[in-house]
Amino acid sequence: MESLIPISELNDFVFCPRSLYFHHLYGGYSTALYHDTPQTKGNIAHESIDEKKYSTSKKWLQGVEVSSEILGIYGKIDLFNTETGELVERKRKIVKVYDGYKLQVWAQALCLQEMGYTVQNIFLHSLVDNKRYAVEFSGVETHCNASLQEQIQKMRSFSLDDGFSQNPEKCAHCIYAHLCDQTNF
Ligand code: SF4
Repeated sequence: MESLIPISELNDFVFCPRSLYFHHLYGGYSTALYHDTPQTKGNIAHESIDEKKYSTSKKWLQGVEVSSEILGIYGKIDLFNTETGELVERKRKIVKVYDGYKLQVWAQALCLQEMGYTVQNIFLHSLVDNKRYAVEFSGVETHCNASLQEQIQKMRSFSLDDGFSQNPEKCAHCIYAHLCDQTNF
């Protein structure tokens, strides 16, 4: 049986498959060794979620673990309103709704659906500027599911020897640049 993929790694893989590979090399070390400042701030933003501080109302599921046997993924949701079917993922600051963000919340929603909940709406919430971004889901679940399955397949079959297009903007700020021979250009 194949191991389950963490939902949090969907976005990391979209950012750069190679950086996720290097991240795994550091798996046994303190995250302080490889988390840069924005990543650390993002984790702090999630502390109140993990400690279930958002609301005491029973209608909210907060920081609950979810999984999908069908897709082979697992992770945590941020906030889910069981009465309205609203799923919310808070991030420190959102400047653009990246494909990786969409895959993350689609994965959360499909896990919830497999667990018997109905997801009606999905929102990404940018904490710094208090902005909300709707992510399509209800009515287009088939498309979301197909995109997710395609991504999971790419992750399962990834090899460091795969061809890769460099992105100088990403590579210039990458904390793994010293490990990555793709930056020797
Ligand atoms: S240096 Fe560039 S290619 Fe290498 S891991 Fe970092 S972002 Fe990816």
